[in-house]
Amino acid sequence: MKVTDYFANSNDTLISFEVLPPLKGGSMKAIFDTLDPLMEFKPPFIDVTYHREDYIYKKRSSGYYEKTAIRKRPGTVGICAAIMHRYGVDAVPHLICGGFTKEDTENVLIDLNFLNINNVLALRGDARKFDGKFVAEEEGHSYAIDLVGQIKDMNEGKYLDENIENGEKTDFCIGIAGYPEKHFEAPNMELDLAFAKAKIDAGAQYIVTQMFFDNQKYFAFVDKCRAIGIDVPIVPGLKPMTKKYQLNSLPRIFHVDLPGELVKNLSAAKNAKERIDVGVEWCIHQSKELKAAGVPCLHYYTMGDSETIRRIVEAVY
Ligand code: FAD
Repeated sequence: MKVTDYFANSNDTLISFEVLPPLKGGSMKAIFDTLDPLMEFKPPFIDVTYHREDYIYKKRSSGYYEKTAIRKRPGTVGICAAIMHRYGVDAVPHLICGGFTKEDTENVLIDLNFLNINNVLALRGDARKFDGKFVAEEEGHSYAIDLVGQIKDMNEGKYLDENIENGEKTDFCIGIAGYPEKHFEAPNMELDLAFAKAKIDAGAQYIVTQMFFDNQKYFAFVDKCRAIGIDVPIVPGLKPMTKKYQLNSLPRIFHVDLPGELVKNLSAAKNAKERIDVGVEWCIHQSKELKAAGVPCLHYYTMGDSETIRRIVEAVY
């Protein structure tokens, strides 16, 4: 079933989880160990992230270093199929522009269609570590809107090869990312919102937000979206902040602002257990307020930490 149908058919706030593929060499057990304890909360769908290749430097026998591209977390499509098979819920693969030619993208979409996976979160992807800024493949997409366009084309039976006549029409429901605190590359919020609106106009049907720790940021974002005619469901993305180093790493990586009270409480916590308690309490409070406001779904970034997410969801549902 499509993600947007779940929203349309529910009177209550739904719940969904996001997992990331294990590092290459790992097993599906890591995914199942994360999800098994969470399935009792009956998520209608589970997102699986996609990871672009990155560069590593390998030392050769000559003593020189060779720059090599490797995908550290492959397996998104396979994991989606395994999740659907094991739990009987829908899986939502993230698809990115980075590292993909249009042809690669088409082939992945064909795989997904054949596997009866008909939800996709369409993203640009981040820059590779050593690139400094996002670099598209020569025959690839530069922005998520172009990826949305390609998926929409396939939903209309249009493939890259114009000789294909009467190509099967896929039936993907397309989600996109949204940024309550602005995407860090956008010159200003107005432009960022205009680009989000363009993605919706191009065929995207719902938005999942970047994590945020102050609900007012989400509510203001929704208001601004509605004001410019974005009328699709906007799903808040939530992550508990439970570790000291995250005080710096989350703002640096995700470009989010941390409320003073959360920073104060986390800094005052005496040990790891107290820090987890602070993060869990904060996220419970956020979740309850968002649920009371009638958001379509609470989307939790699990990052492999099912125990913490379980505590939060148990308190909210
Ligand atoms: P875009 O919509 O393409 O926007 C990128 C930037 O370009 C923005 O600043 C935007 O304002 C600007 N822009 C958009 N269109 C245009 C245009 N036509 N002209 C000029 N500027 C434009 N990353 C991964 O690698 N894998 C994942 O699985 C993944 N999952 C994510 C899930 C969620 C819910 C979120 C919020 C993010 C996720 N990301 C993931 C991170 C995401 O890929 C990055 O934030 C990336 O930098 C931007 O992706 P986007 O789809 O928002 O890009």
